[in-house]
Amino acid sequence: MNGEIAPTKAITLEELRNTPGFPSEKRLSLGRVAVIECPEEIPCNPCEFACPKEAIKIGQPITNLPQLIEERCDGCGICIPSCPGLAIFVVDLTYSKTQALVEFPHEFLPLPKDGQEVDATDRHGKVLTKGEVVKVRNPKGYNSTPVISLAVPRRYANEVRGILGGVRIG
Ligand code: SF4
Ligand code: SF4
Repeated sequence: MNGEIAPTKAITLEELRNTPGFPSEKRLSLGRVAVIECPEEIPCNPCEFACPKEAIKIGQPITNLPQLIEERCDGCGICIPSCPGLAIFVVDLTYSKTQALVEFPHEFLPLPKDGQEVDATDRHGKVLTKGEVVKVRNPKGYNSTPVISLAVPRRYANEVRGILGGVRIG
C-alpha cells in the first residue's frame, strides 16, 4: 500500500438488481414502478415516509437498505423528490411498443420543455440515446426537486437516469 486512495468502482446494473429496492423483471414488465438505487447503508429514510402506499420499508436500524414492496407500488412517483440522494426513479415498460418512460429527479436549469428532444444519459452522465420529454413536474422547483418524464427506446429503460445539460439549481 502506498497510501493512495483507490478510485471508487461504479456499481453495475447487476449489482443494483440484487439490492432490495430494485423491482423484479416481472413487476417491471407490468408497468409503472419505483426503482430505488440506494446500495449504501446510510442513515437516511425520508423515502419510507413519503410513500402513501407504504411500499418502501427501511425500519430499524435506519441504515437498512430501502426495500421496495413491489406489489404495493403503483409508480405514482411521489417518492422521487423525497430522496436527498436523487436515487429513486420510476420506470414504465408499458409506455408504448417501442418506448419506455423513465422518470427521474433533475436539479439543473434551464429545465427542458414538454416535447423537447434531449440527450439521455446513464447513471454516470454518459449520453446513451435521444429521449423525448413527456412532462416536467414541479417546474418551478418550489420546496421540491423537479421530476422529468422521458420517453426513450425500451432497451435503455434500465440505463437512462438523466439528461444532459443545465446548471445545478442552488
Ligand atoms: S412510486 Fe408511489 S407507490 Fe411506488 S414507492 Fe414511490 S411513492 Fe410509493
Ligand atoms: S431517501 Fe434516498 S438516499 Fe435516503 S434511504 Fe431512501 S432511497 Fe436511500
